[in-house]
Amino acid sequence: MKILITGGAGFIGGNLCRRLLAEPAITQVRVIDDLSGGTRDALDGLNVEFHHGSILDQDVLGAAGDGVDAIVHLAALGSVPRSVSNPVASHEANATGTLRVLETARANGNAHVVLASSSSVYGANPTMPKAEHLQLMPMSPYAVSKVATEQYAIAYAKCYDLPVLPFRFFNVFGPGQRPGHVYAAVVPVFLEAALTGKPLPINGDGLQSRDFTYVGTVVDTLTQAILERVTSGPTNLAFGTRTTLLELVSVMEEILGTTLSIERREPRPGDVRHSQASNDELRKHFPGVQPVDLRNGIDATVRWMQEYLEVQG
Ligand code: NAD
Repeated sequence: MKILITGGAGFIGGNLCRRLLAEPAITQVRVIDDLSGGTRDALDGLNVEFHHGSILDQDVLGAAGDGVDAIVHLAALGSVPRSVSNPVASHEANATGTLRVLETARANGNAHVVLASSSSVYGANPTMPKAEHLQLMPMSPYAVSKVATEQYAIAYAKCYDLPVLPFRFFNVFGPGQRPGHVYAAVVPVFLEAALTGKPLPINGDGLQSRDFTYVGTVVDTLTQAILERVTSGPTNLAFGTRTTLLELVSVMEEILGTTLSIERREPRPGDVRHSQASNDELRKHFPGVQPVDLRNGIDATVRWMQEYLEVQG
């Protein structure tokens, strides 16, 4: 089986490459990435065929996708605040980019496509937990671009019989998720601050909650989806946990054996207040999946972050 991972040099992509290469049924892993967010280091020591370029560049994407059996489409401009600053860039990479990837799958004998959508599509809908049938109420250009991502996939399934599986990721964290850039996610931002003796920045009151999902669990599920060629409508990839940012800080304090200080900042426009997945749909397709819990996941991430910060100097 030949697999193409778009955005394979990013956080989830790098972890997924490593995981897929351990599968005997997978004979080749290819990556297309423009390195706008990811780095070549994420693929250090991995036997992948790397195509440097954008999914919006037909020549590069066509070569990367030639003859593949499946595509895991992760390439995107992540982050709600980034999309609020530059909605057109987010639309082009995330919505138009997805269309290009689906066309590539269609041109390659209807390759299976597993895609990354996001919990942000639920947006302002207050119903909890977030079940897939709920009305989508996106609150940011990023969220709208992810609605487009998953709905284009569903349209391709209907119109062209393309085998697709759009996953709605919630807050994925773990080794390989880098801090130090303006759009970094909350776990690496907190851990970098904690390990360098700085206060942890919290937007708002810290009582906003998230369904944190460990990256190892995410890539195990993606791997199973590819190997078993699972198809479905949009499916949450999270396990129904609900952790406030203040609780996250407490878990970090326990693991690090220290008290951490907090710096309060203004709430961010476009951010949702609470997020918790229903995982009935996921369980239907992947009954055996065993999620790594928050404490063990943070523990592994702390160890990775310590090494990362040491190398960075
Ligand atoms: P990431 O930013 O680490 O990885 C995305 C990768 O895509 C980067 O390597 C970047 O260089 C690449 N990329 C961006 N635009 C591109 C383009 N036009 N052409 C080629 N490559 C391009 O993000 P991640 O955390 O690994 O997320 C992977 C996917 O999952 C994204 O689609 C993201 O929106 C989605 N997602 C992630 C989370 C999370 O918590 N990490 C939550 C919800 C959804």
